[in-house]
Amino acid sequence: MESQGAKRGAGELKDGVTGGPSKRSRPAPSLPTEASLYAGPFPFYRRPSELGCFSLDAERRYHGDSRALRYFAPPPAHGSAPDFDLREGYPERYRPRNEEIREGLDHLLRWLLEHRGQLEGGPGWLAGAVVTWRGHLTKLLTTPYELREGWQLAASRLQGTLYLSEVETPAARAQRLTRPPLLRELMYMGYKFEQYMCADTPGGSPDPSGEVNTNVAFCSVFRSRLGTHPLLFSGEVDCIDPKAPSTQPPACYVELKTSKEMHSPGQWKSFYRHKLLKWWAQSFLPGVPRVVAGFRDPEGSVRSFRTFPTMEMFELIRSDREGWNPSVCMNFCAAFLSFAQSTVTQDDPRLVHLFSWEPGGPVTVSVHHGAPYAFLPTWYVEAVTQNFPSPPKTSCPED
Ligand code: GDP
Ligand code: MG
Repeated sequence: MESQGAKRGAGELKDGVTGGPSKRSRPAPSLPTEASLYAGPFPFYRRPSELGCFSLDAERRYHGDSRALRYFAPPPAHGSAPDFDLREGYPERYRPRNEEIREGLDHLLRWLLEHRGQLEGGPGWLAGAVVTWRGHLTKLLTTPYELREGWQLAASRLQGTLYLSEVETPAARAQRLTRPPLLRELMYMGYKFEQYMCADTPGGSPDPSGEVNTNVAFCSVFRSRLGTHPLLFSGEVDCIDPKAPSTQPPACYVELKTSKEMHSPGQWKSFYRHKLLKWWAQSFLPGVPRVVAGFRDPEGSVRSFRTFPTMEMFELIRSDREGWNPSVCMNFCAAFLSFAQSTVTQDDPRLVHLFSWEPGGPVTVSVHHGAPYAFLPTWYVEAVTQNFPSPPKTSCPED
């Protein structure tokens, strides 16, 4: 099925850069990722607004409502020190999501199909937008500082809109399949913390006796714009604070995290350099105003809390010459979106431009048709093309 596979792959980069054997060969496009290239003023970023939401239940079934939303219910601030045993219930009350099932953008596309008639922004807004998961944008934001994990993003254009869907890299897959037992338990602990901190009703109390089922998710759908790029993305939201000063999403949303207790200034510095960057990027994108962290001891019990207001995170690293800079993150993301928009010129849901990045190198592109990279489902493509006919495609032997 890879009729055009890797025609403009990284293999041609050198030829392209040196002009290649033929005068006509254009340089294979690539995008550098060095942080120093993206310093400069913070770009325009529209205050994110919530367009809607959906929920995934214990069987990972879609519901077009907020049934999976939970309510922030922390222990009393001046009570005794917390003692949440994050390992409690593991492994017998853990139902992890099946990570072999590749969902792509499917749930988000279902929401979009059901709401595209009522989208704000005026006619044609969606045609100029990028549609993706928040988590994919988070990876773009942190790319100039990432030293370990590469990524691949598949891109297809349909009726103008550019869709971006992550592809698991072979290295990430290998790591997932050989995930050490300790890491599995750490993942459980993060979800267990949410169970200790959230209630099912506003004003209710958490019930840590149930199972931890990571199929369940509440996802909010956001609209924003980065520079000239209108964005529609969805992200999983941990909980809403019924006591927040503003009841309007995303201002009332809270992101929950756990991390190891820190004991030295050096440990804090490293935390600010690495983990806080990821926390900032993830919450800044949807405008979630605060991250509440539980710090666990070596036995896995939460011993203290700290709230990190998203808009104050950069202050904690600003004076560190080896720290991160939000402008670099956002400027790189904007540059990637421009790069993707200008690379994917054909409107064809079966055509995939695969953007690949490994630390230390530039973002490169390869071109593919059909399986396995095509990710826009037939039900989506047919539904949107029925109401909005486009000229018949030239015949394609692969289809
Ligand atoms: P995050 O920011 O990385 O947590 O990801 P998003 O909030 O953008 O999540 C988008 C969708 O992907 C939601 O339906 C999540 O439940 C799902 N999701 C998030 N992380 C993972 C993951 O590690 N593996 C899989 N298979 N799905 C995930
Ligand atoms: Mg969380």
